[in-house]
Amino acid sequence: MNTVTEFKRLKPSAASHSARRAAAEKQRKVLIAGGAGFLGSRLCSRYLEYGYEVTCLDNLSTGRLCNLKQQSRNPKFTFIHHDVVNPINQKGRYDFIFNMACPASPPKYQSDPIQTMKTSIYGAFNLLDVARRSNAKILQASTSEIYGDPDVTPQTERYQGNVNTVGPRSCYDEGKRAAESIFHDHRETYGTDIRIARIFNTYGPGMDPLDGRVVSNFINQALDGQPITIYGDGSQSRSFCYLDDMVDGLITLMHTPGTRFEPINIGNPDEFTMVELANLILKKITTLSRITYSDLPEDDPKQRRPDISRAKKYLGWAPKIGLDQGLDRTIA
Ligand code: NAD
Ligand code: UDP
Repeated sequence: MNTVTEFKRLKPSAASHSARRAAAEKQRKVLIAGGAGFLGSRLCSRYLEYGYEVTCLDNLSTGRLCNLKQQSRNPKFTFIHHDVVNPINQKGRYDFIFNMACPASPPKYQSDPIQTMKTSIYGAFNLLDVARRSNAKILQASTSEIYGDPDVTPQTERYQGNVNTVGPRSCYDEGKRAAESIFHDHRETYGTDIRIARIFNTYGPGMDPLDGRVVSNFINQALDGQPITIYGDGSQSRSFCYLDDMVDGLITLMHTPGTRFEPINIGNPDEFTMVELANLILKKITTLSRITYSDLPEDDPKQRRPDISRAKKYLGWAPKIGLDQGLDRTIA
């Protein structure tokens, strides 16, 4: 496969340029913690396409081996069953490390909040140790949740957030905030080459149908003729990024030389209320489903929209696939 074909998804030019550089480094090794999940498994496929040796390390808590069926047939792919809460003693050396390990769906991360917090914090320390041993570049999958229930819109990276330390989402939000600090401190103390991606809501083919996030819930409810479950009055908003755009953004962030270490928002700034999302899905799927309303979960953010000026400026990255087109692909 030539590099033009390999990276045809990656434009504008700065993005494709940095990813071509990734492809040129064929003999390189990448470790993807959380690589059996929704985003991580797509990263595994991409790096195998680029010719890398790919190691996926995952405890399969929310990830699924079926996400790795294709990848497992490639001799350059290795799977390690391991919990990042525990030290990572295996001897592999890596050039690049992605820390994607953490459940992302609220019902999943809230089902064991202590494990969620440990995953973010001990996981950050343990993977940063591997990065130091390997002299690897390491990317932290952070989140828009570090802004909590934001009182400014859109959210720039300078906004420091509005997070409840003692609510049902705290294990995730505060764990991810602490992980950003742990990454920052390793950079300051040891000079570790870090990247922090603040990922906004991402959807696409391959989401676990039972994951509990809104896009997969609404699509599966509509396909099954079940009620579409809007929480609250549905006026809360989210900005949804399509999977391939997100993966392009993460890879570009990892490989763009001279990228600054400050956190970078990666997301699609087009904002939709949950009522708008439900109606869009209902227009696309012939179904007997009707919308129902139930209580809004505690601390559910009312609004979320990334300012992506920094990603555009430093990475030359912007999303290309709108919700309408992305939903068609996801539903199919
Ligand atoms: P996911 O739940 O599909 O994948 C997470 C993966 O991490 C799974 O394979 C799971 O088994 C693994 N994992 C969880 N805890 C682990 C542990 N202690 N040790 C080893 N492996 C562990 O979620 P996703 O949507 O693919 O998200 C990936 C990353 O991106 C997460 O860190 C998440 O916080 C972040 N993120 C995702 C979104 C999104 O909308 N998808 C938004 C913001 C941030
Ligand atoms: N939501 C909803 N119905 C569902 C699942 C979620 O109305 O079946 C709402 C949820 O309350 C939130 C939004 O959709 O306001 C996005 O939820 P999701 O769990 O996908 O992500 P997050 O809250 O972490 O952004």
